[in-house]
Amino acid sequence: MSEQGLDEPGPKKRILFLFSDTGGGHRSATEAMIEALELEFPGRFEPRMVDFFREYYPSPLRFAPEIYPPISRVPQAWRFTFRAFDSKGRARAVTQISYPYVRRGAKRLVRENPADLIVSVHPLVNAHLVRAMRHSPIPYLTVVTDLVSTHALWYDRRADLVVVPTEEARDKAVEYGIAEGNLRVIGLPVADRFSKSLDDRKAWRERMGWRVDLPVILLVGGGDGMGPLKRVAKAVNEARLKATLVVICGRNAELKADLEKVDWKLPVHLYGFTTEMPQFMAASDMLVTKAGPGTISEAFISGLPLVLYARLPGQEDGNVSYVEKLRAGVWAPRPREVVDALRRWVDDPAARQRAAEASRRAAKPDAARQIARLIADQVGIEA
Ligand code: UDP
Repeated sequence: MSEQGLDEPGPKKRILFLFSDTGGGHRSATEAMIEALELEFPGRFEPRMVDFFREYYPSPLRFAPEIYPPISRVPQAWRFTFRAFDSKGRARAVTQISYPYVRRGAKRLVRENPADLIVSVHPLVNAHLVRAMRHSPIPYLTVVTDLVSTHALWYDRRADLVVVPTEEARDKAVEYGIAEGNLRVIGLPVADRFSKSLDDRKAWRERMGWRVDLPVILLVGGGDGMGPLKRVAKAVNEARLKATLVVICGRNAELKADLEKVDWKLPVHLYGFTTEMPQFMAASDMLVTKAGPGTISEAFISGLPLVLYARLPGQEDGNVSYVEKLRAGVWAPRPREVVDALRRWVDDPAARQRAAEASRRAAKPDAARQIARLIADQVGIEA
């Protein structure tokens, strides 16, 4: 070997990320980790993302990304399903019953995607995959992308490492049987761009055609524009707050079309799915959102006070109490309550500032990079 060869890095390490587009959060967290791997270890990794439901699971599971938005709009059904399997025993039972059905797909997934390490960011794949990989030496890492009320299906003892975002999630992991030594409390991985505030907020607002002299209320319903977003937008409209309203409808094209027909009484800007969420958040003053873990974590980094108007029952209940406990925002399940909370913050910038500071204190902007370093460590790459 030449002298130069001694310094050459070894072959790229292949990292397989298992996610699904059920909502927007799993994809965002995965992309944040992939970005962090490249930032921390340029050229050393070869990441691959697989939507396991869409690409490897049989029908009707393969349609999970399409089925998720309508099901999540029926709160009772969501609460029932979430609770029904949320115990160690019932999670194990449902996995055993479903495994024969997904076994071929799970094995094919492992076969067709050779990797040095697997990272899962979805609760519904873990038990199946670790079973399909029995006796495999490939390390399996679970990165939990719910904040607090984390479901039993996240936690399979056969995973080599489990990363959780909060102490509350850590307690759940222990309750569901994860050994302390296999647990890391780090944070939810969020794209680096959220940590870099806009250089010139005013210029960005001007470029977007937003008023620069009014506070901006940003209204977001997760990746799929979920929850009673239309009713909330209309209530804000009727209240004639002295603010600009920016609504991001995500992939919900119908919602956007409906909102375009409203007779707006305050400056309003409507958008579909945006890839510029970091800029939208940095240019805004308050965030009204459903209690999605990704959006909440991004809002913390952006220092935005939060009004949470909806949550997925069971799954996102803990997110609401978490935000309230930190004093970073309020729970306002009725449009009238959303308006009251916003009015307080529009009329009292000092109160808004206090909530903004609390939000920023809760931020974990380094989480994606920390996870990247953990991954590197697992596959023998040194910083
Ligand atoms: N998002 C986005 N563009 C949009 C709407 C949402 O990039 O137009 C992102 C948002 O920034 C967040 C994710 O989608 O990263 C939503 O994740 P969250 O966990 O909040 O909710 P979910 O959609 O998974 O229920």
